[in-house]
Formats: sequence, C-alpha cells, structure tokens
Amino acid sequence: MTIQWFPGHMTRARREIQEKLKLIDVVIELLDARIPVGSRNPMIDEILSGKPRLVVLNKNDLADPKVTAEWIEFFSETKGLDALPIDAATGQGVKEIIPRVKLLNSAKMEAQIRKGIKPRAIRALIVGIPNVGKSTLINHMAGRKIAATGDKPGVTKGQQWIKVGTEMELLDTPGILWPKFEDQAVGYQLAAIGSINEQILYLDEVAFHLIRYLAAYYPNALEDRFGVEELPTLEELEDNTVVVDVMEAIGRKRGALVSGGRVDLDKTSSLILREFRSGKLGRISLEAPKL
Ligand code: GDP
Repeated sequence: MTIQWFPGHMTRARREIQEKLKLIDVVIELLDARIPVGSRNPMIDEILSGKPRLVVLNKNDLADPKVTAEWIEFFSETKGLDALPIDAATGQGVKEIIPRVKLLNSAKMEAQIRKGIKPRAIRALIVGIPNVGKSTLINHMAGRKIAATGDKPGVTKGQQWIKVGTEMELLDTPGILWPKFEDQAVGYQLAAIGSINEQILYLDEVAFHLIRYLAAYYPNALEDRFGVEELPTLEELEDNTVVVDVMEAIGRKRGALVSGGRVDLDKTSSLILREFRSGKLGRISLEAPKL
C-alpha cells in the first residue's frame, strides 16, 4: 500500500517517531540496498537527533553485491555509521543485528553497570519508508507474524515489546518515514523498485529511466534477459524514440502486442518493471556512492 504524504502526515509521522524515541536505546534505520540514499528520509538525522543508530540495507538479495560493499564503506567513512546488508525475507544477515546493536549500546550499558544498575534488555525501534521491509524484519526477528504490512502513520495502537533473544526488545510497530520524493531522479528510482504509487509517475517513463540506466551500468541484463541485440549507445539512448525502439524490440520478443500487431508499451513497461523487481534481471543496484 502506498501512503500519500501530505504535510499533515509528515508532521504526525515525525511526532510519532519522536514519541517512540523516548522509549528506546537504539534505532535500526532500514534502507533499500538498491537505493540506500534514495530510500532515506531527507530529515532523518534531525528526527533521530543523535540516537545511536544501525543502518540496515535490506533486500540485499536484489542488489549488486559489489555496490553494496561500496555503500557499507560509504556509510562508515562519510557518516561514521555501521551499515549491515540483510535480506529480511529469508533472514539472511538478520542474526548479525543483535551483536551490532549491542555494540552501539555498550557505552550506555557500561555506565549503568558502573552505577550499580542491572542492565535491562536493549530497546530498539525499526524506522524506514513504506515498503522497505519493516514488517518483514519485525516478523522475522519476532519469529512470528506481528506487524500488519502497510501500517499507516497516524494509526496508533497499544505498543508492545517483542523479545528478541534475551538481550534485546523490539517495539512491535515500526516508525514510518516519508521518502525523498521531491527529487525527481529519486522519484523514478523509488517507482522502479515499486515503493511509490505508480499512478504518480507514468509507468512508461519509469521504464524509460530504467532502460537508460541498465544500458549504462548493466547492459547484460537487457541483452541476456530480453534478447536485445545491438544495444544503442548511451548517446543514442538520450533520444526518446531510440528508447521506444528498444522497448518495442522487447515487447515484440515477449508478445506484448495490441490488436494489429503493434507493441503494447504499457504492457511492455510493466513486464520490464516486474522482472526487475523480482530479481529476474539479476542483482542490480540503482545508485552507487560517490566515494
Ligand atoms: P514495510 O512497508 O516497510 O513494512 O514493508 P513490508 O515488510 O511490507 O515489505 C514490502 C515488500 O517487500 C513485501 O512484498 C516483502 O515480501 C518484500 N521484502 C521485504 N524484505 C525483503 C527482502 O529482503 N528481499 C526481498 N526480495 N523482498 C523483501
């Protein structure tokens, strides 16, 4: 489900997270490994105001592992943040969250021990934009189904702590943040991964952007999966009609036709996006850090 982010929604989302922050020790900031900066809330540093934070790059099963490694270096070197790649759907990497969270909380825990206070379980909150995998991660860590997927901001319910092992507790409702949708390039990336409403951007435009990007960075994905022969150069692809030619070639190969034998560009766009999102084009990252 996609949330429409009106200013009122943003204020409420922010207030809700700040209420929750009072209860917790460490934030788990969930980002999409394919667009870590694009899937980041533009005001996150301000909203979290200094809470210890673990950056988790989810859906790493769909991202380019080489680029993910660069992102980990980027977060560490430029932001001083520990970033962990995971795949919440299968649980790959999730076990590593507890030790990392413990490390982030160690100063606080040592201070408590020095004061003679018996340390309690570390309390953590998962935050992220819609569709990034918050509910999937909560359910995986809980070992059962807890959060309703597509939770809306502003719908508060009684909050509960979920025990994750003996040393950590997770708030059962995530903090939902709005994406950086005012940046058009990011809008296309978010639409490509299926995280913003397709009605906001035209499907064929999203597919256009994706094809140009793939031609530049992952030409094999177009050649191998869709059988595109003699991929035009990047310069040639700046011309929209050349991109349409590529799409028509794909549509024809796949039988996405309208009556009269013409290629159905909408159908072709959706099949390209569907196959990209499900990983059928291979592991692809849509942005790389500027190191
Ligand atoms: P939320 O809105 O942040 O709570 O996101 P959800 O947990 O509802 O997940 C959104 C979609 O992403 C669902 O279809 C999940 O199955 C899928 N998903 C979540 N984590 C992963 C992952 O690590 N890999 C893949 N491939 N899909 C995932």
